[in-house]
Amino acid sequence: MKERYDVIVAGAGLSGSLAAATAVKGGASVALLDRNKEAEVGKKTNWGWVCGDAVADSHLKFVTEKIGIRFGAPELDYKVDGVIAISPDLASRFPFEGEGWMLDRPVFEQKLLQYAIKGGAEYHSEFEVEGPLMENGFVCGIFGKDREKKHVEMRAKLVIDALGMATTLRRKLPQNPYVDREVDIADIESTGRYIYEVDVDHDDLNWYDKKNALIHLNQEIAPGGYGWVFPKSNGKVNIGIGVQKASLDMRNQKRGTKDSLHTLMDAYVKMNPVIKNLRLYNAHNNGKGYWSVAVRRQMDSLVFNGYMGAGDSMAMPNPISAGGIGPALVAGILAGENAAKAVANGNTSVDSLWNYNLDFNKAYGSKTAGLEVFRVYLQSLNNEMINYGMKNFLSTKEAVALGYGHTTELSLASKFRMVLKGAQNIGAFTNLVYVVKKMKELEAIYEDYPESPLGFEKWRGLANRSVEEAKQRFRPRPV
Ligand SMILES: Cc1cc2nc3c(=O)[nH]c(=O)nc-3n(C[C@H](O)[C@H](O)[C@H](O)COP(=O)(O)OP(=O)(O)OC[C@H]3O[C@@H](n4cnc5c(N)ncnc54)[C@H](O)[C@@H]3O)c2cc1C
Repeated sequence: MKERYDVIVAGAGLSGSLAAATAVKGGASVALLDRNKEAEVGKKTNWGWVCGDAVADSHLKFVTEKIGIRFGAPELDYKVDGVIAISPDLASRFPFEGEGWMLDRPVFEQKLLQYAIKGGAEYHSEFEVEGPLMENGFVCGIFGKDREKKHVEMRAKLVIDALGMATTLRRKLPQNPYVDREVDIADIESTGRYIYEVDVDHDDLNWYDKKNALIHLNQEIAPGGYGWVFPKSNGKVNIGIGVQKASLDMRNQKRGTKDSLHTLMDAYVKMNPVIKNLRLYNAHNNGKGYWSVAVRRQMDSLVFNGYMGAGDSMAMPNPISAGGIGPALVAGILAGENAAKAVANGNTSVDSLWNYNLDFNKAYGSKTAGLEVFRVYLQSLNNEMINYGMKNFLSTKEAVALGYGHTTELSLASKFRMVLKGAQNIGAFTNLVYVVKKMKELEAIYEDYPESPLGFEKWRGLANRSVEEAKQRFRPRPV
């Protein structure tokens, strides 16, 4: 092990392996650290590679176009035409995302790691990262434990935090004006899923669709979140739910129940009338697991002196779908590119790293604040309102545009007149009009993201106030 590197990448999940591969390509010397054994790289916890495994084709294409790595079988396990969101009464269906893939997640992670190693990244497995080393206001390395549990300090010009949701780096940064250390629990979904081999009892596309990934919006089944049934190869399914703690507590209180993520997950599996004779598919010991996903906009700044973050460590998953594979892949590459440039320029200060914020916002991040507001709105609707809204408020085209965070082509004004003529739930509709306006406002704020750290404090105040205003207006109301 060397003492000093240009870049240390902490975490060899999706974002970390790609950040390391890209930084090496850009000429940097890179150490890539992960707590897992090499054969289990990217495993999030003892529960495995807990994930729904679905990723849009466009994100994989981004990776191929940027660094040339091509994907196919076996890491791309199964192709789907898209994702379909289904209303609680099963009467409305909105397609999202377009063509995508179900990954064999352990195999996919291994492919990215080997690509990084082949490129020249120095990989250290079974290394537990415990926190950042600080010097003169800069992150200048990490400390942790090697596989013999020996305390190790490793230094670098720059550290990339790719440690995922429970990062020990971001959370231990000194108080600073750029990167927040904590994520609000209201912005976190507790999630769990099984991978089963199943028999299909009969055709019912509301419960199992071998061509599409299904999402059940339903506040009874998954308060503050949703349930999913995603098809995999050879008659397997990835089935799970995500819930918001506040919504679950409220539902339990109102119902006098003691449901947990676990009981709701099992109830969801059991109520599916189509998939039968479930056999846990436990390859890689990855058949059942629980973990958390942040569903807010990404951290306002992804950089600090000597520090960059990518993927779940920066709360990058999509606030509506919780899809974090795509942004982790995109961010890993952009972080690696910018890291190599900063090192080559001999400057890893926050100013020098700032361009990564701009790159990520352009490629993915500028829509997420609007989607966060849309998520908070959805969490304020009970099943009846979701049913009504999906049927009456939005055309499929409008719903899809909103789901992507686009707001411009909406023809809501005419709908508004229609609803005013005598429909119910005016309040919910008025709120939707407010949300669309708010999404536009946030789009404009993110278009104005500061070109350097200079204007950041003012910008951040504006963005946070705008999102907070919506959060004050909408409170969770699952039942
Ligand atoms: C139940 C569930 C379902 C999901 N479904 C989907 C889906 O269908 N589609 C989608 O796009 N996204 C989904 N997501 C989100 C997606 O899985 C994540 O966004 C993605 O894994 C983020 O990748 P990452 O590289 O940032 O972090 P991670 O995948 O979390 O990788 C972090 C790596 O760092 C290692 N590490 C962590 N701490 C330390 C430490 N202290 N020292 C050393 N190493 C450490 C970990 O072991 C791991 O290898 C889901 C998430 C969950 C929990």
